[in-house]
Amino acid sequence: MKQDQEHWGLATRAVRTGHHRTGEGEHSEPIFTTSSFVFSSAAQAAARFSGDEPGNIYSRFTNPTVQMFEERLAAMEGGEACVATASGMAAILAVCMAVLRSGDHLVSSRSIFGTTNVLFDKYLTRYGISHTFVPLNDMDAWQRAICPSTRMLFLETPSNPLTEVADLKALAALAHAHDCLLVVDNCFCTPALQRPLTLGADITVHSATKYLDGQGRCVGGAVVGNHHHVGEEVFGVLRTAGATMSPFNAWVFLKGLETLQLRMLAHSEGAARLAHWLRDHPGVERVYYPGLEDHPQHELALSQQRAAGGIVSFEVRGGRPAAWRLIDETRMISITANLGDTKTTITHPGTTTHGRLSDDEKKAAGIRDGLVRIAVGLEDVEDIQEDLARGLNGC
Ligand SMILES: *Cc1c(COP(=O)(O)O)cnc(C)c1O
Repeated sequence: MKQDQEHWGLATRAVRTGHHRTGEGEHSEPIFTTSSFVFSSAAQAAARFSGDEPGNIYSRFTNPTVQMFEERLAAMEGGEACVATASGMAAILAVCMAVLRSGDHLVSSRSIFGTTNVLFDKYLTRYGISHTFVPLNDMDAWQRAICPSTRMLFLETPSNPLTEVADLKALAALAHAHDCLLVVDNCFCTPALQRPLTLGADITVHSATKYLDGQGRCVGGAVVGNHHHVGEEVFGVLRTAGATMSPFNAWVFLKGLETLQLRMLAHSEGAARLAHWLRDHPGVERVYYPGLEDHPQHELALSQQRAAGGIVSFEVRGGRPAAWRLIDETRMISITANLGDTKTTITHPGTTTHGRLSDDEKKAAGIRDGLVRIAVGLEDVEDIQEDLARGLNGC
């Protein structure tokens, strides 16, 4: 069985890995809602606690349902080990706690999830861990920012909301030349579209809350990488710090993985159709989508991603009033900053996810007043277009 898995394609791994059937012969993966596990004797308890005998002790350490999710996601990402976490932020925090020490430095893309930005800026600095933010696509800036105490490079690709694409192979080479780890937040693509570990990254992190669930039900996260960094170091932090995933949430994500590839390809197809339609619309000034031929990193995106993903951003003519009108005129699309749901969502980054930035910071980050971000769901694209056309035509 294990041997077969090495040859299996992604779709097979998504459906068949991780589940070790119990004596009941169940076909679907069971949920083990138990906080602790019993031992057959005092001697076995001692052997489990000392680590001489593998097996479950307590669900903060390991839980069979959580392990099914971990094993399946590791198989899909092409990593040796996976550790599930209570949220995407818990995954990023656990990696930082595992990899970095007081006095260390990290270099991060400027275009990262807002809360990750706060984690680096406000909290890690308290523990003597400093950082430098750089533009995602400026290789010279990455290189210049690396100093002797740098241990980690961190990024998301494609970025949010402008969908810039990072050269993962080049950044992995740069990281390794300076004895650093490359950590990639693979939330936007998921392993169905992009497998950073196969391109040289050392660790991938996920907000399972987004596409891994795919239906907006649970909050969770995961870290994938090799045995040492993830199986030992990140696992050690997590079982101690306690931000572990609940068995029920693990089960939801586990079942989500089974349809991940289908969904990601459908999200991407819908987004591509919407991006082309928006590009040709007179009310739209500019569209950001890696699947468009005129996207600055279109070729790079095609070389490292299987499809361009479900996120489309665009600038409407007329600035903020026009962007807000477009959003307010929708009747079907959900006004929420979340993403990775079957339901299409719409948001105005300048006043929500990026609202804390000063005008100068917004300018530097390319967040214009007319910018709107759509996370394309799985509805009929014609209905999404109709819902947008009302507000766009009003321009
Ligand atoms: C949502 C998100 C996170 C944080 O995940 P939570 O599950 O909300 O903690 C991290 N990175 C990216 C890119 C995200 O979109």
